[in-house]
Amino acid sequence: MLLELIIALHLKILFTENSKVDCLMGIEANGCYLKDNRIYLSYKSDNINRTLYHEIGHALFLRNNFSRTIIKDYADILKHKKNEDTTENDILNERVADYFADYMLNNKEFSVKYPCLYIYFRDTLNKFI
Ligand SMILES: [Zn+2]
Repeated sequence: MLLELIIALHLKILFTENSKVDCLMGIEANGCYLKDNRIYLSYKSDNINRTLYHEIGHALFLRNNFSRTIIKDYADILKHKKNEDTTENDILNERVADYFADYMLNNKEFSVKYPCLYIYFRDTLNKFI
């Protein structure tokens, strides 16, 4: 399923030692998704599977313009606001990517904990693979 998803989304997975440079971000990150469909993964990531699924979540849901009505019941997203420049949309995008990683890694538990999101993710994936 992972390879099918990577192929269907035309993702290019690149491994990096210096994600700060490769991700074009000022901050160190374990991974990033760039809109030309490149995903950078840092060798230093302590959970590279989770990082990969998180970035695939960005690839899937940035393009789908994820509906905030689905996620609002599940997260107090404003709690995660890091600084003035972080918008509610940024936080929402990060939460969706985190939920997607959970969906991929803990599928059964996820279906019990977040039934609506589970169906949404499942149906979205079915459109791609
Ligand atoms: Zn992210």
